[in-house]
Amino acid sequence: MLFGRRRKNPIRIADKGVKSWRYTTCGYCSTGCSIEVGLDQDGKAVATRGVGGADVNRGKLCIKGIFEHELFYSAQRGDTPLMREKRHAPFREVNWDEALDRTAQEIRRIQGTYGRDAFAIISTGQIMTEEFYTLGKLARGLIGTNNYDGNTTLCMASAVSGYKRSFGSDGPPGCYEDFEHTECLLAFGSNLPEQHPIIFWRLRQALEQRRYPVIVVDPRVTMFAQMADMHLPITPGTDLVLLNSLAHVILKEGLADRAYIEAHTAGYDAFASLVEQYDPVSASRICGIDEDTIRNVARLYAKAGAAMTIWTMGINQSTHGSDGVAAINNLNLITGNIGKPGGTSLSITGQSNAMGTREWSSASGLPGYRYLENEQDRQDTAEYWGIDPAFFPKRRGMFMTDILPAIETGQIKGLWLVATNPMTSMPNTPRIRRTLERLEFLVVQDAYADVETNEYSHVYLPAAVWAEKEGCFTNTERRVNLVRNVVPPYGGSKPDLWIFNQLARRFQNGRGVVFPETAEGVFEELRELSKGRMLDYSGMTYEKIEKQRGIQWPCAEGQETGSPRLYADGVFQHPDGKARLIALPFVDNNERPDEEYAFWLNSGRVVEHFHTRTRTGKIGNVNKFSPTPYMEMNPDAAAGLGIAHGSYARLTSRRGDAVVMVQLTQRVPRNMVFIPFHYHECVNRLSLGLLDPHSRQPAYKQCAVKIEPAPNQKAAAVTNLAARSY
Ligand code: SF4
Repeated sequence: MLFGRRRKNPIRIADKGVKSWRYTTCGYCSTGCSIEVGLDQDGKAVATRGVGGADVNRGKLCIKGIFEHELFYSAQRGDTPLMREKRHAPFREVNWDEALDRTAQEIRRIQGTYGRDAFAIISTGQIMTEEFYTLGKLARGLIGTNNYDGNTTLCMASAVSGYKRSFGSDGPPGCYEDFEHTECLLAFGSNLPEQHPIIFWRLRQALEQRRYPVIVVDPRVTMFAQMADMHLPITPGTDLVLLNSLAHVILKEGLADRAYIEAHTAGYDAFASLVEQYDPVSASRICGIDEDTIRNVARLYAKAGAAMTIWTMGINQSTHGSDGVAAINNLNLITGNIGKPGGTSLSITGQSNAMGTREWSSASGLPGYRYLENEQDRQDTAEYWGIDPAFFPKRRGMFMTDILPAIETGQIKGLWLVATNPMTSMPNTPRIRRTLERLEFLVVQDAYADVETNEYSHVYLPAAVWAEKEGCFTNTERRVNLVRNVVPPYGGSKPDLWIFNQLARRFQNGRGVVFPETAEGVFEELRELSKGRMLDYSGMTYEKIEKQRGIQWPCAEGQETGSPRLYADGVFQHPDGKARLIALPFVDNNERPDEEYAFWLNSGRVVEHFHTRTRTGKIGNVNKFSPTPYMEMNPDAAAGLGIAHGSYARLTSRRGDAVVMVQLTQRVPRNMVFIPFHYHECVNRLSLGLLDPHSRQPAYKQCAVKIEPAPNQKAAAVTNLAARSY
């Protein structure tokens, strides 16, 4: 009996008239939840539910997944190709042939006039692996531009770079199951409950079975920090100092795993002499974490039987993001925590298929973790595709963050954007606006016609979204899962695979390169090309993947299921089989608050937002939580400036300004504010975005701003009304 009531009201689940359920995989974040979409008698998607038997989510979904079926019918979907001669002219509707012919013609004109690399392609982390692979074949094998990259440079490039430097290859070595085995968890710059709610729930489930210390390093008191055993409120941009200092203590106190270091690593001497300089007393003055806490964390981590580190953008989006990742790997290598249950360096990826593009898109090289720089890789790929290996460049071209500045300098004249929105996602919006205006030709391929970047396009290609098509995603733990086609593409939109194949026909020039029509046909090529490689897919089929609710690579031919961990044998991908311990000196080169710009601006994600809100901003049940650009501000700092809770404030940096609603909270210290980064014309009007020298990823997380009450509260309120319209 509950509070004296004799009868509990029965829970009633609304009957949405579901007649059948179709299996698929969530298309938002990289957690990789298995989903079923419910169809009513007319074949309309009316409900979504988690799949109970799927190991990743075990029946759970977060708010984005729960309302994902509404995506198919969301506002502003593109259903007809659009074209115009000049950017300021109105679009006219055209048929697919006209749009594709013009696109092919313009690519040829630009390449013919200015050289092959004057046309650039920037793709995404959100289309299917089979589509990435096909785009790569088209870009590398037929169009032949070397300036082809993905927007994953904005989120995961530092993780890729750090993994390659430490282990000799990309590929997260751990898995979610490691939460069930670890004895200490260290999380850097990751607000897991909001960014990856279902991974967080897996962690909570593991902690309910067995307690172990959870240590969260973050400048803000995030939701994750609130539930941690220890919160280390680090000074922004100084994680490398903390990591070097943890290593210092571990070596100094004889807590390192000497046998593992001897057997499986190289570079110890230079590394040890570098970390010798990072004693906790000196380090604490830079990173803001007191010396006792540094020692305590180092001892906890090194003495745990198995310890693991997870991280997200707090590490990656920094001027030394790649070094931060390599430093995490250093920590795990010196404590023998790689490739064993509960001992790992696990980068939590962002977009649903950020891993798929890393593996198969050829954006940074050639498919299947092959390199343009490697002659054998060029030869093998060319032979398989049936093209001349001399057609490939011998080194990778520009990163996304270099392609856009190259438009300013006139090196790039034409651009094809696939499911990415640099007008909102790139740092320094005013500069990006000027940049896009300079293009001779811009083609935007996206599910939404109102994506902000489309304002600058000459051709718009309406793409189908998520389960309107079929193919695979790879999640954070290397699990390949299947997106089954649930409903037909919206209006006249087309699957990205179809669009790539149609363009490929226009670039064949009699070469006869094979482009399979179906996703499953493309998957056969991935299986073939991956045989015997680190990311072996050859033991997978669509049927097997669906049956097992995802399979982790490597899964070689004849293998019944996948492999949860990499490097369990201690053999790494560098030529000598050893991992690298890398000496990583800290260089403080980013903008810091000063007298005029007195606040740190920190940015991140909230659970109801995703990917510049192109999708989540259109789904009323998701948009309603945070439609209005807002900032978290410390009440004491706000009082000093005469700013009230719920009022509007104007932030100004050296790049631009933005107006936001103020939410007063103790989650941020007095000298810092926090803004979710997915709003258009907001945080990236302010951000500086200096680039990491290895990964070319922007340092979104740190810049300096000044703050004042917004002069025009009425105008700001009008903006708010518009933001709440879906
Ligand atoms: S946690 Fe990620 S994959 Fe899972 S339902 Fe939410 S958005 Fe989708």
